[in-house]
Amino acid sequence: MKKLLIKGGSLVSPVNGYTRTPKDVLAVDGRIAMIQDSIDESCQEAEGAEVIDATGCLVTPGLIDIHVHCYPKAFLGLDPDVLGIQRGTTSVLDAGSSGADTYEDFRKNYIDKSKTKVFTLLNVSKEGLLRGHELDDLSKIDKDALKETLKKYGDNIVGLKARASASVVGEMGFTPIEMAAEIAHEVKMPLMVHVGNYPPALTQVLNVLDRGDVVTHAFHGKKGGILTEDGQIIPEAIQARERGVQFDVGHGVASFSLRVFEKTLKEGFDCDLISTDLHVENYEGPVYNLAAVLSKTIACGETLENAIEKATSAPARHFGLKDLGELKVGYIADFNIMELASCDEDVVDAIGDSIHLNEKLVLKKTIYSRGEESEIFDHVAGK
Ligand SMILES: [Zn+2]
Repeated sequence: MKKLLIKGGSLVSPVNGYTRTPKDVLAVDGRIAMIQDSIDESCQEAEGAEVIDATGCLVTPGLIDIHVHCYPKAFLGLDPDVLGIQRGTTSVLDAGSSGADTYEDFRKNYIDKSKTKVFTLLNVSKEGLLRGHELDDLSKIDKDALKETLKKYGDNIVGLKARASASVVGEMGFTPIEMAAEIAHEVKMPLMVHVGNYPPALTQVLNVLDRGDVVTHAFHGKKGGILTEDGQIIPEAIQARERGVQFDVGHGVASFSLRVFEKTLKEGFDCDLISTDLHVENYEGPVYNLAAVLSKTIACGETLENAIEKATSAPARHFGLKDLGELKVGYIADFNIMELASCDEDVVDAIGDSIHLNEKLVLKKTIYSRGEESEIFDHVAGK
């Protein structure tokens, strides 16, 4: 498809000045060609375009989910298009499913074959998430092999990943996480650290992270999280944020607490990035898709505009995803068309607490472009 004209929608992309701003968008040969108050389908530029009626809907840049598991040969993994396009995200970051030993297979058989744009956070463990206890032996961190993989595939690998949970590091404790941070800083790439059950302690993890690193599952409800026992933000988190560490939602199957997130928002400590941690155990609930996670954060007090930004331009800029995440002429023609629908329902988080939704984002169409081609995925009943 060479031309697409999206008419009648309200654009949301705060970095581009759009905060539910009525505009039409024309895409030509897979790129955004024109954004104007009104684009007539009979004008020369739009001649022959397929017209998409977005009346009553929001038009956002294609959503970017920075935490999914889309290497089906790894623990919990599912096909990239099942977790990407079919769940309303045009770009995803696979968060550490592959390591130096498995990346080439992931690349050749999945990344290069998917419609979803897949970027990689390479696991510091060479085995990736093959078995699920990938950092219980220091010999699994092969720095030379990791550097070699980064050198060869720097076009796709945008950061590193390590999981700091008791079940992952076993008796190695904090050492593998310290090594991961050292390597990431040496190769000048962001490190995403999954935080979970102690040990290692969140405070210890935060203290080795630096500008550009990302804490995912930052708002989990487990012991030793981001809040002190009397509900204050731990000082290590405030200091980490001052150094430029980013805090990501990473909902997951056991890693997002509505009550913790509501409280941190009230304390003025908002998240920087919003992601799902979609995998085989949560994609049919309680996570579903990124739009559903955005709706939960909005119910907790996030503004719609901020929520969209944290799943579009913020991750694109943070991980250097070229020409993605914004509604800007020349950028790749990836869009979501969603309705902000009134509703009356309760949704649950990863630990069974619930929140009432008066409104929610409902996926209508996901438009994605590769090269000069644009395609449309229709979401039936918001799924
Ligand atoms: Zn994960």
